[in-house]
Amino acid sequence: MEKQMLIGADLVSGEEQSETVLNPKTGELIAELPEASADQIDRAVGAATRAFAGWSRTTPATRSAYLLAIAERIEKEAESFAALEALNCGKPINAVLQDEIPAIVDCYRFFAGAIRTQQGMIAGEYLDGFTSMIRRDPVGVIGSIAPWNYPLMMMAWKLAPALAGGNTVVFKPSEQTPLTALKLARVMAEILPEGVVNVVLGRGETVGNGLINHPGVHMVSITGDIATGRKILQAAAKTVKRTHLELGGKAPVIVYGDADIEAVVEGIRTFGYYNAGQDCTAACRVYAEKSIYDKLVADLSSAVSTIRYNDPDDTKNEIGPLISERQRDRVASFVQRALDTGHIELATGGAVPEGPGFFYQPTVVANANQDDEIVRREVFGPVVSVTPFSADDDVIGWANDSNYGLASSVWTKDVGKAMAASAALRYGCTWVNTHFMLCNEMPHGGLKQSGYGKDMSQYALEDYTVVRHVMISHG
Ligand code: NAD
Repeated sequence: MEKQMLIGADLVSGEEQSETVLNPKTGELIAELPEASADQIDRAVGAATRAFAGWSRTTPATRSAYLLAIAERIEKEAESFAALEALNCGKPINAVLQDEIPAIVDCYRFFAGAIRTQQGMIAGEYLDGFTSMIRRDPVGVIGSIAPWNYPLMMMAWKLAPALAGGNTVVFKPSEQTPLTALKLARVMAEILPEGVVNVVLGRGETVGNGLINHPGVHMVSITGDIATGRKILQAAAKTVKRTHLELGGKAPVIVYGDADIEAVVEGIRTFGYYNAGQDCTAACRVYAEKSIYDKLVADLSSAVSTIRYNDPDDTKNEIGPLISERQRDRVASFVQRALDTGHIELATGGAVPEGPGFFYQPTVVANANQDDEIVRREVFGPVVSVTPFSADDDVIGWANDSNYGLASSVWTKDVGKAMAASAALRYGCTWVNTHFMLCNEMPHGGLKQSGYGKDMSQYALEDYTVVRHVMISHG
């Protein structure tokens, strides 16, 4: 297991206090990893600054080749990357190996191609006697900060477009899930020129804070909580850094009376609980038309009660535990407060199972109202609420009535209804008759307090580059 950070060409240990990394399935200690010191953060930014001069002038073909080499190494070592991610996050090994690793490899490959085929405005004489052209150049040194729910994938979403665009990076994984980032750091040290990627360890309030306030960092890219996003904005204001914010979500799932209920149940069972609901796009806030409400609650509850999550044979598990005891307790307290309202009904789950680890039963709560906390706040756990609506209710208004704006879905057989709802929803993504499906060609990112900036797709390349105008006088 790699335990060292990457600063320039050096694999080094942190110099500050140790953070414990726990196995969420057992609560046992996996590793103790010291945090980076202020001097080490400074050295990492310095290494990225020095590397920028050369890396930013490489051709797209050269950077593409590096990204392809990274993709190949991850693919070649897929099983060991997956095993480490599963250990650190408690995820079922098959979910990492079959769902995450191929998408991660494809992310590096997508940006390897995308950087060679960028499109833009044509050069020309927009003033007589002068030729104007548009350039897309790198931003500079990027401070990238990742959450704990998909550590290696968030690293890919941040690194691949940043590197493709000619930037250099100082990356900080979540203090709770740094293990695959450290494994990839060693691979990066072998493949990339010195200083192009640096990886530092530590908590948000220490190392993250040091990074976002560093004057040598030109852009901060964060995936995390809204509260963390606000801190990034405050820090960024001091030196007018660019920011790329991917914050939380509370995805509405609108189920009209004519929907295919079997498909809805299968969809919510899968996409409301994937990764134990620790997903910013989780299908967690269901609005069901009254004509199908009772059947949906009954069928969904019975389907959710069959989700496998703590089998000693991990290949049988569909979801894992929460990331930490704190997160598990937070989820449990959300459900308790929901039940304390008196009108919300527990349809299935709602308890901490016996035994070790940070597990929580897959849970459905029914008869929730628009004003209830469980409908409004991000739980980030295996909990789905169902709210009934009638034709007289403004269900699109309810869905939009949220600080979040990341993902949404609409379930209906009526194409017109689906189109109208998709046009009216204020979310970065709307799925129709599905949920959560992502591909590297399409953007992922939010509106409202879910942040701004796109991951994946050509739009991410735009975010990690700046438009410049060059004008040449003919005289
Ligand atoms: P978090 O905000 O606590 O932490 C995210 C990262 O930010 C961590 O690396 C943390 O160390 C760092 N951080 C925390 N405080 C900081 C500070 N003051 N300065 C600098 N860095 C700081 O979030 P989390 O609990 O790790 O992740 C869960 C959150 O992430 C949820 O709200 C979830 O919705 C969101 N998320 C969003 C997306 C998306 O694409 N929009 C994807 C995954 C997760």
